[in-house]
Amino acid sequence: MHAFTSLSLQGVSFAFGNQTVLHQIDLHVDAGSIVALLGPSGCGKSTLLRLLAGLAQPGGGEIFFGEHRVAMRGWSLPPEARDIGMVFQDYALWPHMTVAQNVAFPLRMRRVARAERARRVMLALERVGLAPFADRKPSGLSGGQQQRVALARAIVAEPRVLLFDEPLSNLDSELRESLCLEIRQLLRQLGTTAIYVTHDRHEAEMLADRIVYLSGGGIAAIRSVTSASGEPV
Ligand code: ADP
Ligand code: MG
Repeated sequence: MHAFTSLSLQGVSFAFGNQTVLHQIDLHVDAGSIVALLGPSGCGKSTLLRLLAGLAQPGGGEIFFGEHRVAMRGWSLPPEARDIGMVFQDYALWPHMTVAQNVAFPLRMRRVARAERARRVMLALERVGLAPFADRKPSGLSGGQQQRVALARAIVAEPRVLLFDEPLSNLDSELRESLCLEIRQLLRQLGTTAIYVTHDRHEAEMLADRIVYLSGGGIAAIRSVTSASGEPV
């Protein structure tokens, strides 16, 4: 089994110029758990995710993956060294590559040999139900299918952490619901630690073990989610 990791933010702050976006955030996420970051547009959700991904540097505080410090004021481990997978709202697929080539990209970056790459790409595409689409271009796929390709690309290298930034916001509500359930099932199967940013409370409740409410640059509340049966999910 793959070694997943806990995440922790200790007193993390971030500003754009003199606008404080995040103020001294303290948050611990257990290895293998799913946390939804919920809050209105502009409250700093994407910024927090970018700090976890290494796409932005904190102005203060420290970020840890397990025992390993990945960021502090003035220093940040780059994204490619963090062992993460990301899924964005706009899919961010390369239009000139086939579905299989898109999904293979993180493995090429890690210099995984061709045969092993092909095996893992097919496994990831099977997991999202898109194996028959391997040789298609993304432009020939629906929005939901494109987001499944992005999901396959995020999981193909079996990263320690998965980061989602409003992955379903571009899709219509029926598709959102079914894809949300698919993502949950996939995360349960993989056991990967995941942070899922959304402004949709229903999505957060369907998916997460805990919901973190962001507001005014800080954490307003943290709530555990229980399933309909009353059992923690
Ligand atoms: P959310 O994802 O919750 O909608 P963001 O993290 O994208 O919020 O943005 C938080 C705040 O930071 C907003 O007030 C936004 O205007 C500001 N912001 C985001 N990106 C930039 C940027 N590149 N330059 C300046 N301000 C930004
Ligand atoms: Mg955002």
